[in-house]
Amino acid sequence: MGPRAWAVISLAILLFALVIVAALRVPWSAPPAPRSDQLAALRDLPGDAVARGRAFHAALRPGSYGALLLGLVIALILGLTPLGARIVEAVGKPFGGNWIAQAILGGFVIVAIGEIVTLPLAAWRETILRHYGLSNQNWSSWTVDLLKGYGVAAVIGAVTLFGFYGLARLMPRWWWVLAAGGAAALTVLFSFVFPVLVEPIFNKFTPMEPGPLRENLIAMAAHDGVPVRDVLVADASRRTNALNAYVSGLGPTRRIVVYDTLLRDAPPDEVQAVVAHELGHAKLGDVLTGTVIGALGAAAGVVVVYLLGAWTGLLRRAGVDSIGDPRSLALLIAVATLAGLAAAPLQSLVSRLIEARADAHALAVTNQPSTVEQMEQRLATTNLADVDPPRLEYLMFASHPSVVERIAAARAFARGER
Ligand SMILES: [Zn+2]
Repeated sequence: MGPRAWAVISLAILLFALVIVAALRVPWSAPPAPRSDQLAALRDLPGDAVARGRAFHAALRPGSYGALLLGLVIALILGLTPLGARIVEAVGKPFGGNWIAQAILGGFVIVAIGEIVTLPLAAWRETILRHYGLSNQNWSSWTVDLLKGYGVAAVIGAVTLFGFYGLARLMPRWWWVLAAGGAAALTVLFSFVFPVLVEPIFNKFTPMEPGPLRENLIAMAAHDGVPVRDVLVADASRRTNALNAYVSGLGPTRRIVVYDTLLRDAPPDEVQAVVAHELGHAKLGDVLTGTVIGALGAAAGVVVVYLLGAWTGLLRRAGVDSIGDPRSLALLIAVATLAGLAAAPLQSLVSRLIEARADAHALAVTNQPSTVEQMEQRLATTNLADVDPPRLEYLMFASHPSVVERIAAARAFARGER
């Protein structure tokens, strides 16, 4: 059996494993609250807050969709015509066509083209955030954040491109085996190191101040069976007025983080409700689930890329002889962009189901559905949420249940229905 047949078998095994993990770890059987309950929740929300959230999202939409469309068009033009391959070749020329220069610098230039074209839309978005009082940034701090983001992406991109094309050169027939394993391993490693290496680049984290709130949170976590050494506070207020909390990391790097804005603006019982939601993620291993799905997906993606290498029509269209040649990188970026867009609805659905389960956990742990509802309302008002977003947008991109769904679920819990 040749490498191609093995690749097909490996892909089938990886996809099967993905289905099994998703079937076992994603709470598929929890439907959102009935639409009539959602509409009742919508009617009870303050009308001016709902209108303001809608206006804010209407203002963001042209820029968001414009950037999405522009990014897609550029990726397709560079990847599905010989233009991208020619750019990579030109970038490598001063280095005598060295493959490392082609892979890393070529990758930077191809990605930079898309970034530069969509940069005005990103700046426009920032002006809208400021106009609505959500962003606290000025242009210099915004630019610093942008450059830090590019720096992180450049390091990850360089490692990925060097590893990918290096393996392809070393083992022209079997590179995909090590590359798939490497992609999965990098995904897992990244989940571990993200909170300690990447998050501190953007924010400062300090242990929550001693006091009754901190003690209550630690006690709630212990009672919940999720021992938490510390609850960390992020200095989010220098960037945003939005309220948030999250859990990240795996094993020794797992942490629960709350924004300082949340401590500033929300009463302690609502902070407790937010942390109870995050405890749900920790207890149910949602970061691990996401990491395993990500790792299997990354490995499967590598095998798909290898198999695409047999599609001579596609390679010819991109002006490339082989997928292992760095000149193929614009084609790979185009394929990844299309795959990402195609996977978005499923990814969003999985995320919403996991988030709804964390909401249910918060209700069960606090047993205070009215506090949870107040907290949802405060988050929606302060963060200018679109409390009941357009259906298509919700299905494509919503990572969380809508505010009206979450409030309806809290009310169903209060009635003893969940
Ligand atoms: Zn969550």
